[in-house]
Amino acid sequence: MKKTVIITGAARGIGRAIAELFAAHDYNVLINYHRSADAAQQLYRSLTEQDCSVELFQADVTRRAEVEAMVAFCQQRFGLVDLLINNAGIAQSRLFIDLTDDDWLTMINTNLTAVFYCTQAVLRTMIPRKRGKIINIASIWGQIGASCEVHYSAAKAGLIGLTKALAKEVGPSNIQVNCIAPGIIDTAMLDPYTPEEKTALREQTPLERFGTPEEVAACALFLASDAANFITGQVIGVNGGFVV
Ligand code: NAP
Repeated sequence: MKKTVIITGAARGIGRAIAELFAAHDYNVLINYHRSADAAQQLYRSLTEQDCSVELFQADVTRRAEVEAMVAFCQQRFGLVDLLINNAGIAQSRLFIDLTDDDWLTMINTNLTAVFYCTQAVLRTMIPRKRGKIINIASIWGQIGASCEVHYSAAKAGLIGLTKALAKEVGPSNIQVNCIAPGIIDTAMLDPYTPEEKTALREQTPLERFGTPEEVAACALFLASDAANFITGQVIGVNGGFVV
């Protein structure tokens, strides 16, 4: 039987690569997007032309009511959710001393509180079924910290803590909760970096290149598979050796 996955922030970047890979592997895929409506429509058309089973849902994952509506829509369209991939995220580079309350709250709400909302919404049916998986997209900066990205690093470190604690809590319900911590991945998230900063980041990566969204997606597909049923509470690096 087909499995159903919700992927947040899936119109572009890493989320899009995950959506394409899971759709190609016969999942029912609920593609969440927020602002990228054109990209989402284009992805939907391209996947439906390939006979994939996909739906779009616009939701700001920082709003609980929109998240609840997204999960209800997915259940109505595809049945109960087997897998949630919390991918939506934002980054910002700013000195800690200059961060405003709004910078802080927007970062924490998008990268951490949204995961709380989405995960609670799907666990309500996963726990009684005693089956389900949650995959959170964290970051190397949540593991080792990034200068000028203190709020991002704090949110991603919080996400790693959430993953470990929740894995312990819902393990007895046969639900696996894991994190992927990507290194430097070639998406629009890198746009604010100067060419010099990008060169430095490449040089700090032992494999001497950026990762691709497809390489993160491949790790998510493995974690979602039955081959990973005994893996929970883990932080899997897809980082070219940046953090070892
Ligand atoms: P990206 O290309 O900038 O994509 C970010 C995605 O997040 C977009 O699809 C965006 O949706 C979505 N999003 C942001 N706020 C949202 C909200 N309130 N509600 C719903 N969706 C929202 O960045 P990316 O590189 O693919 O990043 C994906 C994840 O990987 C993020 O969690 C990021 O922190 C993490 N990550 C990235 C890197 C990297 O080097 N690229 C490294 C480590 C971790 P819309 O466009 O539809 O608004």
